[in-house]
Amino acid sequence: MEQYVRLWELLADIQLHPDTGDSITLSLTPNGCYSASSAYKVQFLASLPCQFGHIVWKTWAPPKCHFFAWLAVQNRLWAADRLAKRGWPHHPTCQLCRTSPETARHILFECRFSKRIWTAAASWLSCPDLISSLGEGRPKVLDYWLAVSKTTTSSPKGLRSAITLITWEICKERNEWVFNNKSSLPSVVMHRMREEGKDWILAGARNLAELLG
Ligand SMILES: [Zn+2]
Repeated sequence: MEQYVRLWELLADIQLHPDTGDSITLSLTPNGCYSASSAYKVQFLASLPCQFGHIVWKTWAPPKCHFFAWLAVQNRLWAADRLAKRGWPHHPTCQLCRTSPETARHILFECRFSKRIWTAAASWLSCPDLISSLGEGRPKVLDYWLAVSKTTTSSPKGLRSAITLITWEICKERNEWVFNNKSSLPSVVMHRMREEGKDWILAGARNLAELLG
């Protein structure tokens, strides 16, 4: 209805002349003429900017890990805090450390088990500043993710792939605890991560290969 009224107002002063032919002008191009590129751009007129472009979608990772990262940075992983809100079955305490309440932020960045993984990964990636970038007490998963992504390194793109890989492996280890009651030492998780990293590089993760030298 609003659009109809607007159109009414726009047309109110227009006079039609029976002897004048119609002409079509495209308001989306500077010269008013149709072009294939302008038609393509029309599809994105109502699209919203995605703040996760660089850290999720433009980072090399398998599609399932992209999806995992996209959920994680929006705090949409099914950790105990979210399960509790819906009244669904959950372990309220983090199964990796068995001391703190479980949240996605805790699992991925704050848990003492996860910090051991981050420390080992910093050494693997020859990226000692990763731990100081991680910091602590950040309010959201996204804050941690952005902070570690800004660590100074020879290959920022490779680092973003590595962050997806590290968080993915930590989350998988958490799921092994919760769903299969199986646990692994941090050294075993790191071994799996290195092997997975090799597969990613074989599959095309060139920036990760650069980072690992
Ligand atoms: Zn924990």
